[in-house]
Amino acid sequence: MKEKLKAVFGYGQFRGNQEAIIKNIMKGRNTFVIMPTGAGKSLCYQLPAIASEGTAIVISPLIALMKNQVDQLNALGIKAHFLNSTLSKSEINRVKKSTLSGELKLLYVAPESLTKVENLEFLKKSNISFVAIDEAHCISEWGHDFRPEYRKIKNIIGQLGNLPIIALTATATPKVQLDIQKNLQMEEADLFKSSFNRENLYYEVRPKKQIKKQLVKYVKARKGKSGIVYCLSRKKVEEIAELLQVNDVKAAPYHAGLDASVRMKNQDAFLNEDVDVIVATIAFGMGIDKPDVRFVVHYDTPKSLEGYYQETGRAGRDGLEGDCLMFYSYNDIIKLEKFNKDKPVTERDNAKVLLQEMSSYAESSVCRRIQLLHYFGESLEESCGFCDNCRHPKEEFEGKEYVEIAIKAVQQSNERFGITHLVNLIRGSENQYIQSYNHDKLEVYGQGKDKEIPFWSSVIRQALLSGLLEKDIENIGVLKVAQKGQKFLEAPYSITLFQDHEFSTEGEEEESERDALPQNAYDPNLFALLKDLRRKVAKMKNLPPYVLFQDPSLEEMATVYPTTRDELLQVVGVGMGKANKFGKPFLDAIKKYVEENDITTAADVVIKSSVNKSKSKIVIIQQIDRKVNLEEISEMNKMSMDDLLNEIEHICYSGTKLNLDYYIDEILDEERQDDVYDYFMSAENDSLDEALDELGDEDYSEEDIRLMRIKFLSEIAN
Ligand code: ADP
Ligand code: ZN
Repeated sequence: MKEKLKAVFGYGQFRGNQEAIIKNIMKGRNTFVIMPTGAGKSLCYQLPAIASEGTAIVISPLIALMKNQVDQLNALGIKAHFLNSTLSKSEINRVKKSTLSGELKLLYVAPESLTKVENLEFLKKSNISFVAIDEAHCISEWGHDFRPEYRKIKNIIGQLGNLPIIALTATATPKVQLDIQKNLQMEEADLFKSSFNRENLYYEVRPKKQIKKQLVKYVKARKGKSGIVYCLSRKKVEEIAELLQVNDVKAAPYHAGLDASVRMKNQDAFLNEDVDVIVATIAFGMGIDKPDVRFVVHYDTPKSLEGYYQETGRAGRDGLEGDCLMFYSYNDIIKLEKFNKDKPVTERDNAKVLLQEMSSYAESSVCRRIQLLHYFGESLEESCGFCDNCRHPKEEFEGKEYVEIAIKAVQQSNERFGITHLVNLIRGSENQYIQSYNHDKLEVYGQGKDKEIPFWSSVIRQALLSGLLEKDIENIGVLKVAQKGQKFLEAPYSITLFQDHEFSTEGEEEESERDALPQNAYDPNLFALLKDLRRKVAKMKNLPPYVLFQDPSLEEMATVYPTTRDELLQVVGVGMGKANKFGKPFLDAIKKYVEENDITTAADVVIKSSVNKSKSKIVIIQQIDRKVNLEEISEMNKMSMDDLLNEIEHICYSGTKLNLDYYIDEILDEERQDDVYDYFMSAENDSLDEALDELGDEDYSEEDIRLMRIKFLSEIAN
């Protein structure tokens, strides 16, 4: 496995639980993986897929996400494809063929495609190694991203035989986790839960005051770095993108109301580093995993901590700098509550609990990391030292007697209530609930009269964070006394509590400046040069830059100065596939740089044997470049015309521009070409069958239309 890890992915070591997870799935065990964004979930099923006989099915919720992953796998030289509604019939057939032959290692499908009868039939005939369910939290209604069709997955894969399942997610509160396991009937699965701690992310919350000024200043202090600014409404997205643009920031908007082509263009510009900042609704980000996003700003207060954590998780995936800033205002919470008012009662109550969690996170002055990790069922013993609350601590006070009252309130009301009721009980409120439960007869009733509601809410939350109270997993919002809390009641001890922030009345906060960043170990000039080269090469290849080499690879190149292919292979993140495909210009650049700057490189040379990969695609591209007749190409490569077109389509779909004009001009006159071209320009999709229907199959052969479709895609889409 380790050899494969290096040869294919270019990594010297497994991260965290990766190795144990991979072993488990190779043993055919059901596996449940909970790992934060950016920790390397994909590898957990990609590597076993390569190492197993047959094809692994990967269920993934978003089409854009699939394409992205498939592109990256192909760049590594791994056979993978997706099956979804964007494919034409011949594409689908090609995918099916390579699955049936066992050639394809990973097949990505959307849950909707999985439920289609014809796909199910075909999968039954294929040799499936295992099923991976990505973004498994979509199964749960309690999560932030519920998708009903995810609930059908178990039934369908059940029909394919007794296949091992690996379910993966980046956000699972204990409640969501239980729900996923129940639904997939894999309560016995081995659970691999990694810490959610993203040590390189800096969390910060600021009041929403003079927010535009703050935002511009914040973004300009990070000039040239990639960042995402999330807003809740489309209108706000447009407004803020414009605000940044007039302030000389390369920014672009992204929201569901924009034309698909504009959205695509802006997303690409961001990936290609033509745009530094994308201003977006939460619709943005699920489908991309740009590893070098350096900051994520929440202009509006998010709806839930799950969403917030997921979105901030998009920063610093490569392990380097990642700043997360949220602007908070209680008005935002009220606004969001109003949005929920037309929802069914239970859903509205759930949403309300999520919002409460959000606002108490923002207002609390307890270490952000302790709070976030606690939310996902993890405990961090010490404050992190790397968040705004740790950097600028608020006033502390002795909490022993308050905590005691809080725990007693939970206990005496029989562990059946949530925070609001508990606070009312402690403060001796006279509302009808208190009376109907006879809670005014309890000992704790009214013991905390002299303090305000926010004070007691904060005490209860901090008792939760210290593990004295706990949440009831089955009943959302309900609190119970934890074992640690029982012990505390028996022998109370001193406990330090923090005063909450007072966001409403607090004046303008001082800008919290980050401490100076540590000096880079790498050669910054070479790094900048390589980064620039990467952008150019990526543009030429029509790929997002990170598909070539990621930042950690470039940093290492700028540290060890590899000048031969073998040296390059030693660099983190560089496998055979990448070295062969993209290595040359980088090696040339480094060589030149080393010579010009008289640098001695000390890298020891390790000789490795190279594997000879299928060269057919490269040969075809070269022959087309030399304008060889397609019939001749098919003959020379011993493939049928149909197979050749399949290959060409594949090349084209994976982003390479092909110019077939020399051939098309021979078989179709200009007018007929225009007809087909115009058709594709206005068509809803690129389905071959629909094109044949529409254009008339007497006038055009399937081959004509396929060729024109390639021309069209090469010129427009690529
Ligand atoms: P996730 O799906 O968990 O959000 P990814 O699978 O996209 O995360 O991986 C995040 C990043 O970590 C990617 O850039 C990936 O190439 C890198 N990565 C994964 N495994 C390793 C490893 N063992 N060593 C170094 N980098 C790794
Ligand atoms: Zn902290």
